[in-house]
Amino acid sequence: MLRAVTLFRRGLFRPSPGLSVRMTSSEITPKGILANQVAVVTGSTDGIGFAIARRLAQDGAHVVVSSRKQQNVDWAVATLQGEGLSVTGTVCHVAKAEDRERLVAKALEHGGGIDILVCNAGVNPLVGSTLGASEQVWDKILSVNVKAPALLLRQLLPHMENRRGAVILVSSTAAYTPRVDLGAYNVSKTALLGLTRTLALELAPKDIRVNCLVPGVIETNFSKVLHKNETFWNNYKENYQLQRIGRPEDCAGLVSFLCSPDASYITGENIAVAGLSSRL
Ligand code: NAP
Repeated sequence: MLRAVTLFRRGLFRPSPGLSVRMTSSEITPKGILANQVAVVTGSTDGIGFAIARRLAQDGAHVVVSSRKQQNVDWAVATLQGEGLSVTGTVCHVAKAEDRERLVAKALEHGGGIDILVCNAGVNPLVGSTLGASEQVWDKILSVNVKAPALLLRQLLPHMENRRGAVILVSSTAAYTPRVDLGAYNVSKTALLGLTRTLALELAPKDIRVNCLVPGVIETNFSKVLHKNETFWNNYKENYQLQRIGRPEDCAGLVSFLCSPDASYITGENIAVAGLSSRL
């Protein structure tokens, strides 16, 4: 153990998947800082959600992955289990009540309680202006991006009490600085900042913390229209001095930290992972 601590301090210790360790203020926990916790991550078979699921499992949690398509769930579970991680999964379209019920039931199979909820699933069915969005588009964006996190948390809450739980909502820097081509999506992501603060207030008496991840442009399928666009990329490089697009893993470490005891006095917060801070 002493050798591991020394190597860790020198930055030479690289834990293998399934044996992740993080030094807390006072100790190294060999099983990971999230050991014995159960985490539910929505939209977690690809992109940012998949990276978050992997990281939480590497840090010791049992993770329940989910998304709309069975084949994607099967792939994610097989991949992460193949890395020696404790992962199960089920299909869950977050806007469908019966799917959310199934997700809760799946999570309860592992020990009877839930400690962490990461609401990552999000959609943007329209590139265009706010006033160009039909009622159907509004309903879809608001159902998946804003209503579903609140409704899923409502279903999970009885199983999160007395466990000092953590909830993470996933917004976007489009919440701080709206993009002209992402009308209703911008609005939904700004609403998540409000939802974070309101839920943080409501759940504080239950010792459940609620925080918000605010990604900038992260290289995933979802953001292909942006990062594969040369004009966008050239403009981006000029303004973002880190000179690169974010990676899903850039978001995952923050989420693990916010769910951990090291963040036990942080709630109602929103934090950008964007290569630059666009908030005051
Ligand atoms: P992604 O790579 O396209 O992955 C989306 C994941 O969500 C997939 O696993 C997908 O699997 C699942 N999914 C989609 N709709 C769902 C639904 N209705 N219910 C449940 N699962 C669903 O997307 P991403 O870029 O990682 O985005 C994740 C989150 O980050 C979103 O909330 C997005 O708004 C936010 N974000 C992304 C960026 C970025 O640049 N990438 C920036 C800011 C914010 P199935 O197809 O199997 O459902």
